Amino acid sequence: MNEPRREARPNGGAGAKPRILVVEDESDLALLLTYNLEAEGYAVESVERGDEAELRLVEAAPDLVILDWMLPGVSGLEICRRLRAREITRTLPVIMLTARGEEGERVRGLSVGADDYVVKPFSVPELMARVRALLRRARPERVAVKLVAGDLELDRETRRVRRSGRDVHLGPTEFRLLEYLMEKPGRVFARSQLLDSVWGFSAEIDERTVDVHIGRLRKALAQDDREDPIRTVRGSGYAFDETFGRG
Ligand code: CA
Repeated sequence: MNEPRREARPNGGAGAKPRILVVEDESDLALLLTYNLEAEGYAVESVERGDEAELRLVEAAPDLVILDWMLPGVSGLEICRRLRAREITRTLPVIMLTARGEEGERVRGLSVGADDYVVKPFSVPELMARVRALLRRARPERVAVKLVAGDLELDRETRRVRRSGRDVHLGPTEFRLLEYLMEKPGRVFARSQLLDSVWGFSAEIDERTVDVHIGRLRKALAQDDREDPIRTVRGSGYAFDETFGRG
């Protein structure tokens, strides 16, 4: 198999500091985030307006964006939607911030493709942990671009899933769920673990949400009654079947 092709990334050389764009119009919070992120060794740029953020993102994509929901100019939700629509920023990690009371919007945030979602006021160490986790997950030099099992292929760079060469259309959550399960074939994950890792938060969300998304994923993967790659382990959770595609 050929070495997967990789796009050049701005400032992405080995050893370069990961670049983080903070988009937050509350200047105290922007300062606090910048201070803490720089202390952790990141190169940070901070902007206050949504339209300003868009300009920055077109100039050069950072390695991660911390994006406030309510912004002057263009809303965080709209920025996230546009990031996901552009090829070069499709997989750019995004953490959305929201004020209390906007929590009902969480589902919308995740449906436009935010990777994580944090409600203000949040603990700074917790946010830093999420930044680290997301960057670790997103670092292309540390992970294979393509995950392949049997007739199933998942491409992290193009965010495409194919089965026997045919496109499988998945929502962002189903994509991340499949990606996560495929990374560790055979390993059984509890619903709470999947909520933590795939949704990025565990509180307040019903564990049955996982079942709903697994159901959608299965339905999307079941082309022409093909073998189901996902195993339900009663009383435990879900796994990607390690024997899948081996006949
Ligand atoms: Ca705001």
